[in-house]
This record gives sequence, C-alpha cells and structure tokens, in this order.
Amino acid sequence: MLVENKVALITGAGQGIGRGIALTLAKEGAHIIVSDINFENAQKVAEEARGFGSEVEVVGCDVSNKESVSEMFRKVDEKFGRLDILVNNAGIFPFSPLIDMEESQWDKVMEVNVKSLYYCTREALKRLPEGGRIITVSSIASIIGFEGLTHYCASKGAVNGFTHALSLELAPKGITVNAVAPGAISTPGADSGVDEETTNQFLKTIPMGRKGQPEDIANAVTFLASDRASYITGQVIVVDGGWTIR
Ligand code: NAP
Repeated sequence: MLVENKVALITGAGQGIGRGIALTLAKEGAHIIVSDINFENAQKVAEEARGFGSEVEVVGCDVSNKESVSEMFRKVDEKFGRLDILVNNAGIFPFSPLIDMEESQWDKVMEVNVKSLYYCTREALKRLPEGGRIITVSSIASIIGFEGLTHYCASKGAVNGFTHALSLELAPKGITVNAVAPGAISTPGADSGVDEETTNQFLKTIPMGRKGQPEDIANAVTFLASDRASYITGQVIVVDGGWTIR
C-alpha cells in the first residue's frame, strides 16, 4: 500500500476530483479527513472511505474562510493528533468574459483558489513532520489560456508559483511541495451544462480521445504523496491525455 497509516486531509472532497483523491488515498491505506463546503456530500464520501478500513473524519469547511479552516484543523488535532499529507483540491471555475465580470466574482475565485492556500497550508505546516507532503490541484489553465476564465487562469498560475516557492522553503525540512495540473476531467462541476455535441467536438482535441476520470488525477496525487516520490519537489505534473503537448 502506497500511503499506509499516513493521515491525509483533502479539501473539496465531497465530489469530483477531491472525492477520487480521498477514496484512492483510503484504498492505499491512509486515514483521511474528508472536507468540503457541502457537508452532506462529504459525509457520503466518508462513508465510502470507511469501507476500505480507514479511520475517517468528516468536516464541513469553506477553505476561503479563515475561521472555518482553523476549526477544520482543530478537528484534525482532536481525531488524529497529527497530519502527514495536505491536498489543496477545492476550487471553482465560473465562466465570464472579463468585460462582464463583477469584481466580486474575480475576488471569489481568488479567495477560493488562492487565498485558501495561505490559510490551509500554514495550518498544515504547524503539524507536518519530516517526510510530509503538500499537494495542490492546479490546472492546465495555469499553462494555456481559456476564454471566459481570466480569473481562473490567473489563480492557477498563482498555484504553480506558490508550489515553486514553497518547495524551496521546505526542502531543507524534508517536506515536498508539488502540484498536479489536470486537463479535462469528468466531474459534476465540469460536466454541468455541457451538451453531448460540444463534448464530442471537444474530445477530438484530446490526443487520447477521452476525458480523464477523477482516478487519473488521484493516482498522480497518491504517487506524489507516497515515499516513492520523496525526491520530487517543486513540480507541476500535467495529467491531460496529451492535450497541452500538441
Ligand atoms: P467540482 O466537481 O465542482 O467539485 C469541487 C468540490 O469543491 C465541490 O464539492 C464543491 O462544493 C467544493 N467547494 C467549492 N467551493 C469550496 C470552498 N470554498 N471550500 C471548500 N469546498 C469547496 O470540481 P472538480 O472538477 O472536481 O475540481 C476540483 C479541482 O480540480 C479544482 O481545484 C479545479 O480547479 C481542478 N480542476 C478541475 C478540472 C476538471 O476538468 N474537472 C480541470 C483542471 C483542474 P459545491 O459543489 O457545493 O460548490
């Protein structure tokens, strides 16, 4: 098992990629904290994870709210008294051309996708031992542009910069800091409102001819979380079926 007896906290784990990461880490032997702003969904994922024999805590947390994040880490302390792996996964991607974008929408994306890294990672750093792991879910939107997603592309560029800089700060402590940048992954958030014809057109642009599944991202995250990745730090690993290499 790749992460046996490690304690891992996954944000935005109530559905989609976060759910896939939580369940894969649990399958590979980790004890997990399933956290999401949607507590009901988080509870369902926690129940599934218990099926793998993991110890599981479930927390309702808005990662863009400082008090909510402090409360989440208080629960981690109560239940496990330690933390080995933080997965910063929660993120939002509402579409809007810049010209129509309200300032509040720009701010919201930055708060959820970027400011959350400040809140969650600093709390994690008070707890992570040597060998600890920080893994953030970035996006290929950190590398290439998408119309209607200026705020999102900027936020994921920030994720990569955060990963590079923090990896240098933590390398002497034996803590690795990496990001995984997914391409098009089938999740409730990404699939909502997209019709079949658009999907089929879109699939032609992906060299592997299919959308990724949450497990494709979860496998990369689990590898980075494991001892096998102990000499990999400061990297952004693209998992996109070849989309951006074309
Ligand atoms: P998703 O299906 O929308 O799931 C995201 C989860 O995060 C939802 O349960 C959502 O709850 C929760 N969440 C939203 N705001 C939150 C907050 N402030 N605090 C805590 N939890 C919050 O999205 P996904 O596709 O799995 O995306 C997960 C991550 O992968 C994001 O960082 C995204 O940018 C990244 N990503 C996704 C794709 C893709 O194609 N799917 C591609 C590249 C990168 P609600 O549903 O209640 O809002």
